[in-house]
Amino acid sequence: MRPGILGLLAALGLAVVGLSCRKPVEPPRPNLVLISIDTLRADHLTAYGYERATSPEISRLANEGVLFEQAFSQSPKTATSHMSLFTGVYPPAHRVANWGERRNRRLSDDVPTLATLLAQSGYRTEAYTNGGNVSARLGFDQGFDVYQEHRGADPAFEGASRALDRFVRDDRGVPAPFFLFIHTFEVHDPYVPPAEFADQFVDPSYSGDIVGSQAELERLAGGGNYWARNAEFWSRVDRDDPADIQHLKDLYDAEILFTDSQFAAFNENLRSLGLEDETIVVVLSDHGEEFLEHGGFLHNALFQEILHVPLIFRFPPSLGLASGRRIPNVVRLVDVVPTLLEVLGLPVPDHLQGESLLPLVEGDEAFARPVFSQWLAGGRIVALRDGDWKYIRIKRQEQLFDLSTDPQESLDRLSARQEVLARLQERVDEIIGESYAFAETQTKARPPELEQETREQLESLGYLGENPENP
Ligand SMILES: [Zn+2]
Repeated sequence: MRPGILGLLAALGLAVVGLSCRKPVEPPRPNLVLISIDTLRADHLTAYGYERATSPEISRLANEGVLFEQAFSQSPKTATSHMSLFTGVYPPAHRVANWGERRNRRLSDDVPTLATLLAQSGYRTEAYTNGGNVSARLGFDQGFDVYQEHRGADPAFEGASRALDRFVRDDRGVPAPFFLFIHTFEVHDPYVPPAEFADQFVDPSYSGDIVGSQAELERLAGGGNYWARNAEFWSRVDRDDPADIQHLKDLYDAEILFTDSQFAAFNENLRSLGLEDETIVVVLSDHGEEFLEHGGFLHNALFQEILHVPLIFRFPPSLGLASGRRIPNVVRLVDVVPTLLEVLGLPVPDHLQGESLLPLVEGDEAFARPVFSQWLAGGRIVALRDGDWKYIRIKRQEQLFDLSTDPQESLDRLSARQEVLARLQERVDEIIGESYAFAETQTKARPPELEQETREQLESLGYLGENPENP
């Protein structure tokens, strides 16, 4: 909406909803629940147009909130992506990579995270995670009063739900707001959902070798060495058999349905405790997943199926923000922290590379920013989306795609569009340069410190291996 039109509306005495009516947020501020469902492709959610009913509770959240149709991750790797989400800066600025990647380090103590900023503003901060690459040892615990890492079974939603009960039980007088971070690997491979959820999508006539029986699902879903279970699962896949590829998707979709049911149970508790109307709920993922679109599985590339993630906010009615809106603009996970800080009426630090999406939520349609993504292994795998153009550089090999005519990223336009290439190369160099300049101002980040016991525990889980498909 242009200023001239705003002025005209004001002169006519008409309310301009969202732009001029929203009151500043004063304490007590809303609670915040941030849910990361690891490895969740946006396009396998019903709310993002998927033909299957994989996610009724997430659809409900979207109907009551604001859904970003084109949100993109800053890395295909779990630790790197989550750290960009938490800090609002790009991977070369925080430099936190997955376990086992070279030159890995934990987050510098100087870099503020969403949790440290909310803790400074009086929030109680607790995290219930599946650990692994979202580990306290990489600096993810900074700013949290409680940081729980559950491995094996998946009680992250249950732990968070018990925290809700405790918050309500312990409140005396004016309660402090809380920030809960929930992270689950349930959708991550190996795809071994509970049998009752697998039954919803698996073709009963499937006769391939991938797990299908309840007993096999239970065994592979259990604890023990991640890589051993992972290797057994993938050894059964015939990548040339379309029935196997469909079966993988069926199991993956069943994992989404299972996770959605856990989210529904958590939401039910939020409602029953009377907290729903006082709490911002955000659902997102750190990256998607590939099913042979570009010849691979898992998340080891920077194509759209791996970087396109869900991003949905539900705001308390008292904030007067939109509900039931879908926003088509291209946005980024680094935009989440500045958005939440602005929504909560808290100062947004100057160094953030993301930008608040609140103007978009309030109706400004002009937001258009480039999306930078990086796989930190070796430091040289980057992608930049700028408008309809997508540039990918792996060491010295470059690709350029026109997403307006080629959303599948199948036709390399590198030689045809040299002027576009030069512009995107320059922008990548600028982002890396400004990221390094920021990193220089921080206390030098150190390698993750591992006591022997912790090292053995991580090795037994497979997290310290040199496997290039480190999740
Ligand atoms: Zn991940």
